[in-house]
Formats: sequence, C-alpha cells, structure tokens
Amino acid sequence: MKIVQVAILPRHADIEQTLDYYVHDGLDVRPGYRVSVPLGRRAVEGIVVSTDSHSSFANLKPVRSIVDSRAELTPELIELAHWLTKSACCALSTALSVMLPPPGSGQLPTLWQLTAYPSDHPLSEKQQLIIDFMNNRAPMTKTEIAKSLGLSLSPVETLIKKKFLVPVREPALEQNWNLDPVDQLTKEQIHCVNTICQETDSFSCQKTFLLHGVTGSGKTEVYIRLAKKVVASGRQVMILVPEIALTTQLVARFQTAFGRRVAILHSGLANNLRVMYWKQIRSGIVQIVIGTRSAVFAPVGNLGLVVLDEEHETAYKQEETPCYHARDVALWRAARHKAAVLLGSATPSLESWKKAGSTEYTLLQLQRRIFTPGVETALADMRRELASGNRSMFSRVLIDNLEQTLSRGEQAILFLNRRGLAPTVLCRKCGFRCTCPRCSLSMTLHQAKILSCHYCGHSSRLPDACPECGSNMLRQLGVGTQKLADELARLFPCHKVLRMDRDSVGTIAARESVLLDFYNQKAGILVGTQMIAKGLDFPNVTCVGIVLADLSLSVADFRAAERTFQLLVQAGGRSGRGLKPGKVVIQTYQPEHYSIQFALTGNFSEFAQRELKLRANAGMPPYTALTRVVVSALSQSELTGQVRVVNEALGAVGELIYSGVAPIEKIKDWWRWQFVLRHPGDGQTLAAIDDVRKNIPRQQNVRVVFDNNPYNLL
Ligand code: ADP
Ligand code: ZN
Ligand code: ZN
Repeated sequence: MKIVQVAILPRHADIEQTLDYYVHDGLDVRPGYRVSVPLGRRAVEGIVVSTDSHSSFANLKPVRSIVDSRAELTPELIELAHWLTKSACCALSTALSVMLPPPGSGQLPTLWQLTAYPSDHPLSEKQQLIIDFMNNRAPMTKTEIAKSLGLSLSPVETLIKKKFLVPVREPALEQNWNLDPVDQLTKEQIHCVNTICQETDSFSCQKTFLLHGVTGSGKTEVYIRLAKKVVASGRQVMILVPEIALTTQLVARFQTAFGRRVAILHSGLANNLRVMYWKQIRSGIVQIVIGTRSAVFAPVGNLGLVVLDEEHETAYKQEETPCYHARDVALWRAARHKAAVLLGSATPSLESWKKAGSTEYTLLQLQRRIFTPGVETALADMRRELASGNRSMFSRVLIDNLEQTLSRGEQAILFLNRRGLAPTVLCRKCGFRCTCPRCSLSMTLHQAKILSCHYCGHSSRLPDACPECGSNMLRQLGVGTQKLADELARLFPCHKVLRMDRDSVGTIAARESVLLDFYNQKAGILVGTQMIAKGLDFPNVTCVGIVLADLSLSVADFRAAERTFQLLVQAGGRSGRGLKPGKVVIQTYQPEHYSIQFALTGNFSEFAQRELKLRANAGMPPYTALTRVVVSALSQSELTGQVRVVNEALGAVGELIYSGVAPIEKIKDWWRWQFVLRHPGDGQTLAAIDDVRKNIPRQQNVRVVFDNNPYNLL
C-alpha cells in the first residue's frame, strides 16, 4: 500500500505534525503535490511531504484528489521547508504555505505563451509548427503568431483551447522608461564582474559577495552583465528587490536586456499571472526571476546566481510567521545549487559587513559615481533656526536651495518619515490624545478632519470638542507628508508638487505613474516617506531635503542609528545622479549625533566600525542573536496565563533580556506581551527554541509568534 505524509495547510487547521493517508491505485501522488484529504468531516488541503510503504497508524483515510498537479513543489523546496522550521521557528505546514503559488484565476489576456508542460498529444502539422515556433519565445498576440508563420488564426485558437498556449498580461516596463543603454563598463564595474567570475570559477561553486557600491555607482549594470553570463551558461538568475514599485527602473533595464524571458513575482500581481510565472519558472522557460521577498522561494531548478539588491532593507524580513529573512533563504538555496550570491548596497547591513570583514563573504567595492559632478551635503540645525525666529518646518538653507533648483528648471525630492497632516491630535487643556479604540496608538490626522490608525486602518471624524473635558482646545501636533506637500504648494505656487506615500498612492501601477510623471519632469518637487529613498535614478534631481532626520533616531530600537544612517545616505543618493552637481540638506535637532555626522561625510566604513563597536559592547546583533516572542490574547487574563507558560520555557534556553508589555500594548483588540531572548544563534539553540514553540499548549484566543532575528521590536 502506498502511504503519504501530508502537511495540512495552516489556513485549514493548526496541526504541527504531518498526517498519514493512503493512496488509491491509479492516483499518481508524489511529494510536493497539493492534495485534498479528509480531516474529521471536512475536506482540507495539504502538501505531500513524503511517501512510504507502511504506516504505524491504523484505519488510514484515503487521499481524495490532487488539487493542482502542475503546481507541485520541488524536492529542494520541501527540504528547504524542513530547514525553515528551525531557522524561522515555525510549523512545517507554515513553511510550505509561503512557497505555494496562489490558486489560479481567469483574466482577459492579450499575449500568449507556450504552456509550461507541453505533453505528447497528437498535433496537426500547423499546430506543431506553432509549438516549435513558440518554444523559448517571448509571448505574442494571436495575430502575431499567425502572421509570423503565415497561418490563419484557427490553429492558434485550437492550441489556446487545448491550453497549449496560455495567456500573459504583463506590464512591458521598458516602453515606459526611456533608458539610455550602457555601452562600456567602468574599470570598477569590470573588476567586480571579473572577480565574481574568477572566484566562482564561472559560477560553478558557491560563494557570497558583498558589493558595497556608493549610490549611483552603477550596481544594476553589474547585475545585468553577470546575469548575461549565467544565462549563457544555461542557468537561472534570481534578482531580489525590496519593493517592486520603486524598482521599475531596474525591471525595465532587465527587460531591455533580456526581453520577456524575465518573470516578475510580487504580491501586487494578479493571481493568474503569478501562477503563470511560477509555472514558467518551474519548467525552466524563463531564465531571470525578479521579485520581492517571497520570490526567493521561486521554483528555480538550476540556479546560478542570486542577487539581493539593497540587501540592508528590512523588507526582506517577513514579520509574520514564518518570520524568515530572504537573505538566509537565498544563501541556503545557493549552497544547494552551488550558485553565487551577490548582496548589493550603498549601506550594507552590519550583519553582512561583519561577514565581509572575515572570510565568509568577499567584499567588492564601487567607490565612484558613474557621473561625478559631486554632491554637497549641508546640515541645518533646527534649534538655531528656532532661536533666530524661524518657526517654519523649512530651514533657510533648504528654502534657498529649493528656490535655486526650481529656477534652474531642475527638480527636488523632500523626505519626511510621517504620513498624513499631523501625527497626533492633543487637547491643550487636559492632555487628552485621540487614540485608536482597537490599538494602543495615537490616531493620525488626515484630510477633511479624518483621523486614522496606521496599524489597523480604523478611521473616525475628528471631534469638534475634546471628548474628555469638552473644551475646544484640540490641536495638531507635528507635521506629516500631506501637510508638507500643502506647505510647498503654497510656497512655490508656480511648481507642481507630487506626493508619494501609502495614503496618496495605493496600487503599484499608480505608484509607477507618479514616478514616471516626475521622471518626465511634469512636477518640480516630489514629497514622500522613506519609501522613495532608495533605487530611483532621476538625473534631473539636484536637491534632496531630509525634513526631520530625528524621526528615525527616536525609534526605540537598537538599530535606530543604523537605520538613520541608511536613510540619510540613501535619500542623499537620489541627488546629483546626472551630469549636474547635487545638493543634500539634512534638517535635524541633534546635528552632533554620530549617525548624522557620518552620513554628512558619507563614510560608511567609519560609521560601521563605530556602530559595530557599540553593538559588541552591548552584546547585541550581529555579535549575538535575538529571538522575539509575542504572546497576544483577546483578554488580559488569557494573556497572563499563557505568558507564564512561555516565560518558564524560554528562560531555560537563553537569556531573557526583556519580558513585559509590548511597546504597542494592543493591536486590533489583541493585548500583547513581548519577550526578547538573547542567545548564540547556533543550530542547537535554534532547535531548542523550536522545541519550546512546539510544546506550548495551544489555547483558543491566544497567539504565540516566534521571530528569530527580529527587525521590529514594537
Ligand atoms: P546604483 O544602483 O549603484 O545607485 P545605477 O545602477 O542606478 O546605480 O546607475 C546609475 C546610473 O549610471 C544609471 O543611469 C545607469 O544607467 C548609469 N550607468 C551605469 N553604468 C554605466 C556605465 N558603465 N556607463 C555609463 N552609464 C552607466
Ligand atoms: Zn481636553
Ligand atoms: Zn488601530
């Protein structure tokens, strides 16, 4: 009898172990298949993890059906899921579920492509002609296919009906962005490409490289040249980016270089497109995969190179279970495939920088900008501005620079890490704060007297009088991006101001169109949160202002200084990228802070040295490892019970450096308690931590989430 071990998907049931089922003759079930199985009286879905000829359980139930035989996970991915259970501290089914393609759904297509699994059905001569023609070819419209072969539409239609040709609808970005081709690499770029080829013996052994390239030094072109070599050797390339909307320029460059043999994977994609790309990757039709965090699980069969662009970005860390880091997964997969890993950034994470200082990674550097007119950075001490009577949010030096920039027909970008009009509303009489009824957080004032919570999305009208004391002394406190944009529009009435943050621009396509408008110089100023600080390459931008550098410094997190430095350098890197010199103005109330001082000179290695010393002294990562455990419950009493259990179990495996109410005490009605455990981070400790997780008794209305190497401690 054939037995299969099935991991039930977490959205159907919370079961830690796999369950045994038997397989009817005639049902070809293999590891990696998604199957429907009975569980109690329900039919649930799970992933077949392994097969066997016998089971130690009696009265097994049968597998009902295969859900999608074309979407099976590879043996490598199943093995990866097993590894994730320890490294990301989660159940096997949870690990498997992030790897699955979404269920497909229909949408009206325009382009057609050969299906991933052409089988050996009998075909007419014309149909065979089309199949051969479309093999390894970019998607085309029906008419294009027919015309190319001098056929009528009907054989094309037949193949579509038979599902040999599948629809594609993808944005062809290269048409939007008018990009100059790069003819010759610089000496530094050539050196990078050559070193990687030599040290990996032309991509035949696993090696990790950290490419520290200052902003505007041409990292993207290095990725493209390497990708070409890997593809030429018949292997596949994975390019990971922190966010797709901001990397449309990078995607466009790859599309220019590789045509439509590029698959793009991100959460904003329509489901059927994601499924289509997933299957194309699985079958090896596409050679290049570009995607965000979860694209690291793409079913690439013959990986030669993984690139993590902006490797320091926290977007690579998933905050919900499974709390994995795309970099760790990339390294695991590269080891498995004997592939090269290239981590690129102008401000590498200290984790990677430390490894590049030892022999673990090879350090490569691009120290010069491609175009070198120079960038000048100025500091504006906002305490002095205030003392001399300037109460506005703009220092004189920033205003002067904006005026000059705009009058020369050049453009400016201003950063402010706070959305909305004002971050809080406070009663000047009694101190009442407008807080979210579901979260323990201040609500943010947005347009038209609307308050909204940035955690749960709850919104309500701003009350006319203070709900506490009845006075009419409710006042706004602080400034957000919306207010900033309004203010700029008032100061510079002849220039258009664009705003980009999560409120103003929701969809990826909408974001791209705002960026395109700015790229095509339809506005003088772009205002945004840190979301626009990375990646963008706008040659006409010569002025960048950081409105309040202190915002990221004041976050209660041991990485606050590192994040501030990254933000300032990345934001500054948007200025003076073309042939004209650029200017950066950093506004702050604490100009003497070392992350601001080092950002001023742009000296990453000095900053890193200082920050690493502080981390070593404090016993913080990257010298130790942390695990964060958040227990949350709908009532305080349920919370207390579970906290006691977790507290005892955790204390046995490491040093508890924090155990208390989470900095955000309540989110969406769930009360939260946080533990922070410090430990060496070795395999044995991680296994012990996972054992703790497995053995915590499950309770209704109580959740326990484990996060190894947390990037968010709120
Ligand atoms: P980074 O990612 O390092 O910030 P980019 O890859 O965006 O930098 O490159 C900056 C600009 O320089 C881009 O406009 C790119 O087209 C251009 N560029 C890159 N390499 C070269 C080269 N070798 N010659 C000319 N222009 C180049
Ligand atoms: Zn009041
Ligand atoms: Zn809320």
